[in-house]
Amino acid sequence: MSNQPEQTTMDTTSADSVSDAPVDDGPIVVEPEPEEEIETPPPPDPPASSITFEPFTWYEVTSYCNTTNTGNGEPCPNLNTSTTEPMVYSNAGTVRMICGLCNKDRPILAATKLNPQPEMT
Ligand SMILES: [Zn+2]
Repeated sequence: MSNQPEQTTMDTTSADSVSDAPVDDGPIVVEPEPEEEIETPPPPDPPASSITFEPFTWYEVTSYCNTTNTGNGEPCPNLNTSTTEPMVYSNAGTVRMICGLCNKDRPILAATKLNPQPEMT
């Protein structure tokens, strides 16, 4: 006869449940998302008509940068920013504006023939 007393492993770890920390049931404060400042202005309106340059003529030229990717996925800091060059020479009738920051062509928005033409000496 085996009278083995039943091993009753009484696991009497009284469920001393971790008393929940008092919930601070104050008003839920939703931090207002700071409105992202859009540094990139909208692209300027393209010129109504194509701009032609007379050769060997000085112009005031307004152009802007439209480089949305300078090669590293980042737009040019000059993106959509138009600037006016007060004196641009048309050479043989071709004016190319190059962005100084991304070294890409800048579309020309407007060109005004200087009047009078500057005297070249
Ligand atoms: Zn640029």
